[in-house]
Amino acid sequence: SLTAGIVGLPNVGKSTLFNAITQAGAEAANYPFATIDPNVGIVEVPDNRLNKLTELVKPKKTVPTTFEFTDIAGIVEGASKGEGLGNQFLSHIRQVDAICHVVRCFADDNVTHVSGKVDPISDIETINLELILADLETVMKRYDRVAKLAKQKDKDAGYEFEVLEKLKDAFEEEKPARAIEFTKEQMKFVKSLHLLTIKPILYVANVGEDELLDVEGNENVQKVKDFASNEGAEVITVCAKIESEIAELDGEEKEMYLEELGIEESGLDQLIKATYHMLGLATYFTAGEQEVRAWTFRVGMTAPQAAGIIHTDFERGFIRAETVTYDELVEKGSMAGARENGKVRLEGKEYLVKDGDVIHFRFNV
Ligand code: GDP
Repeated sequence: SLTAGIVGLPNVGKSTLFNAITQAGAEAANYPFATIDPNVGIVEVPDNRLNKLTELVKPKKTVPTTFEFTDIAGIVEGASKGEGLGNQFLSHIRQVDAICHVVRCFADDNVTHVSGKVDPISDIETINLELILADLETVMKRYDRVAKLAKQKDKDAGYEFEVLEKLKDAFEEEKPARAIEFTKEQMKFVKSLHLLTIKPILYVANVGEDELLDVEGNENVQKVKDFASNEGAEVITVCAKIESEIAELDGEEKEMYLEELGIEESGLDQLIKATYHMLGLATYFTAGEQEVRAWTFRVGMTAPQAAGIIHTDFERGFIRAETVTYDELVEKGSMAGARENGKVRLEGKEYLVKDGDVIHFRFNV
């Protein structure tokens, strides 16, 4: 399954945020197949549609879908030179599918800042540079050999050399690989390099307790937003300290507290949703009397592949997917109503599942 790694300099609030994730998160006991690793936090994906479907169908049980965050500690300046836990840090990043980069925007004299002052852009650049340097090394490991082959008019090598050169130029200008445009063909080769800076990223601006309501007026958050928009990246603003308090509350208590704070959705919930999208994940539902359930699939999956997430037998014996969109199901009020109105489609093997599809799979055993 896909996972997002949480990174950031020391003392920016990573652990506080990660604790909020594990607190709010699903008890590992409910997910016996999930990895039991202290650095992995399982979160339930907040989705109002699931509540609405539960009201409609009144099942015995409702099951949200989940995914994982990985806490990646140990970045220090010089990681790419193997300093500190540098190598370990980089290999952990290599294993995740996307990056959530926590940036300190809160001022608190009691909390030491590693570089002496709150300066979010310099913090971001410090980490990004380590990743870029590690990628430059990856590219340079191939560069000379491929250059030589390219000179000998090796067709593949010529093509690869072009891409390597493009990457090298970008890295030398301290630009991440994700900022470069590649053709689909080139991208295949780029993917084979397993670069760190090609992974999608979002920035988590961690603000102080009293700053959560005036994000617009927060100069540091604005700086992060400007920086991120140049990269086409998203920014989520949280107050990690408050998130860790919210995470201890459930349902109604949580809503009351959010209302008191004057915020509509917790930063953590926003972060979970944004990360889910960044990973290219989406949700379809099954809605039976026994169970209403949300399932995570990768955007671009066909109906049989999506069925395989429930059970491999569903994929192997796939016949068709009876599908209705969430909106149409809600509009018609029931599965029967949707069917009467011709809103339930019969989709075959080629169908690409869409976010919000409510599906009943037909299969042979
Ligand atoms: P990490 O090193 O990035 O994991 O940072 P921690 O989560 O351990 O946080 C470092 C210190 O900053 C701790 O004393 C936290 O209580 C404090 N801290 C984290 N988030 C906030 C915040 O939003 N506001 C304030 N005032 N302090 C915070």
